[in-house]
Amino acid sequence: MFVDSHCHLDFPELIERKDDILALMAQNQVDQALCVSVKLETFPRVLALAEAYPHLYASVGVHPDNNDCEEPDVARLLALAAHPRVVAIGETGLDYYWHKDKPEWQRERFRTHIRAANACDKPLIIHTRDSADDTLRLMREEGASAPGGVMHCFTETQAVAEAALDLGFYISFSGIVTFKNAKALKEVARYVPLDRMLIETDAPYLAPVPHRGKQNEPGFVKHVAEHIAELRDESVETIARQTTENFRTLFKIV
Ligand SMILES: [Zn+2]
Ligand SMILES: [Zn+2]
Repeated sequence: MFVDSHCHLDFPELIERKDDILALMAQNQVDQALCVSVKLETFPRVLALAEAYPHLYASVGVHPDNNDCEEPDVARLLALAAHPRVVAIGETGLDYYWHKDKPEWQRERFRTHIRAANACDKPLIIHTRDSADDTLRLMREEGASAPGGVMHCFTETQAVAEAALDLGFYISFSGIVTFKNAKALKEVARYVPLDRMLIETDAPYLAPVPHRGKQNEPGFVKHVAEHIAELRDESVETIARQTTENFRTLFKIV
């Protein structure tokens, strides 16, 4: 019924609880999850999950916050993305919150990911924090519309959502949309067309209400769907069905 379009199940704190986490997914009808890569060094763990479980998928990429790690080039990303269980490139993007000096290497790395996505025609998973203008500019300059993708864990303004939608991207909402103080984001979740929306946990971070502050896990994505259903005055089934269909369309899952 539900899909978690973005989680980090390979992180040690989640992998050690893997059996319980998979059990809660089944219990909450979270049928599929995309395990998102943040470093090449740990990519084998992400891929191992997707190889072991038919309902888990993998992406390949290096997160913009990670600066003490192997730097990817296009050829390396393409070689790893050739695996049939790898359905996306990322997570990639820009993060000027954790890197306030706005380093050039982040933009170079982001360009590398967009070029790889274009070359293999797999969609991008884009992270942006305090960097929306540069993120959108690089997406335009490098032709990110061709492979398309998703703005994950969206926390930006409606104007940024509009710009990303214009570029053909999907918008993914995490547990943040359930937080009481996220008023502007709730408005964005009302505005984004249902056929361009995804839901995610970004586990182990950002657990949705009623689990706020606890360790997050894919089974909790159900609460994100329930909250969006309430905001939009739709049934949970409608939100679940459409976001699942969007997930399969974007990541070409049959
Ligand atoms: Zn992210
Ligand atoms: Zn993430």
